[in-house]
Amino acid sequence: MIQTDILIIGAGPTGLFTVFEAGLLKLKCHLIDALPQPGGQCSELYPKKPIYDIPGFPEVLAGDLTKNLLEQGKQFEPGFTLGERAETIDKQEDGSFIVTTNKGTKHQAPVVAIAGGLGSFEPRKPLIDNIAKYEDHGVDYFIKDPEKYRGKRVVISGGGDSALDWSIFLADVASEVTLIHRRNEFRGALDSVEKVQELKLLGKINLVTPAEVVGVSGENHIEGVTVKKGEEEFSIDTDFFIPLFGLSPKLGPIGNWGLEIEKNAIKVDNALDYQTNIPGIYAIGDVNTYPGKLKLILCGFHEATLMCQSAYKIINPGKKYVLKYTTVSGIDGFDGSRK
Ligand code: FAD
Repeated sequence: MIQTDILIIGAGPTGLFTVFEAGLLKLKCHLIDALPQPGGQCSELYPKKPIYDIPGFPEVLAGDLTKNLLEQGKQFEPGFTLGERAETIDKQEDGSFIVTTNKGTKHQAPVVAIAGGLGSFEPRKPLIDNIAKYEDHGVDYFIKDPEKYRGKRVVISGGGDSALDWSIFLADVASEVTLIHRRNEFRGALDSVEKVQELKLLGKINLVTPAEVVGVSGENHIEGVTVKKGEEEFSIDTDFFIPLFGLSPKLGPIGNWGLEIEKNAIKVDNALDYQTNIPGIYAIGDVNTYPGKLKLILCGFHEATLMCQSAYKIINPGKKYVLKYTTVSGIDGFDGSRK
């Protein structure tokens, strides 16, 4: 059981900044994210795009903002459960909550901050009847650790940047890389398309287009895929099949937690502290709604800051606190001992 003060669901910019604000109050945080890396939309959807409305930064790349937020929070030693989706929540007799992920990891905290943005990004899966049987047994929808594929045969399918970039990367890691796409044209960056063509000429990538994987087979682990190219069907032996068809955001299991939901977002009390209808559960960032709500990163930062002040009172009942500036006391001197 992982125990913490504030359990943050969602490691997007809002969740990451919560770590810093909570740290100033001497509160420990643990973050759960369905994605294998932190950063939320910034790292998943537009890491190379500049953002112009972060106060004090005339321009910052979304990927660099994520790096900076991680750096800012690092001193408070947050914990991470990545690549797992928060699935259920159970209130305990002592008022704390236990949140369990789809992989069975349990987390306990007196306060839960949902910073789930547009929801958990679910991989778009190919329509193959028995594919679920091979998930985590040779079928992967994310690449968490490329070393897993060292010396193995890999079939990747998809036509976007992820499929192209990982095919290029794995060409030097896997023993055999086959990229299958249902069109001859790819949607990804031109540069990556050219690189894949070069690697094909060098014999480092097998390119099969226009074609699609229509079947998977194997005993307990995947051993091969069936490919349809025009009227022809054939098999390719492989150790891994990695469909990279993109991700679709869904509010997902959080929608069943008894929270008040309006238009796919969680209603909160914005006059006070962004608490939901369940005391002890807050919703901050893109995932919440209230009159005048704006889905912007800086609004998530503001909401996280006020939420932490309120969470402090739940975690330290009866203790008073006085707001100090980090510039006056420094972060080490910011002792959190509220008088
Ligand atoms: P998100 O970034 O969405 O992160 C939420 C995280 O929660 C995700 O990683 C998700 O996997 C995780 N999650 C959700 N449910 C679960 C669950 N059940 N279990 C585990 N994990 C879960 N904003 C600006 O201010 N300026 C801009 O210039 C700007 N440009 C943008 C450009 C694009 C193309 C897009 C798509 C958005 C842009 N935005 C911009 C919006 C900005 O990205 C969002 O406001 C911001 O990402 C919200 O942060 P968040 O942390 O609340 O949520």
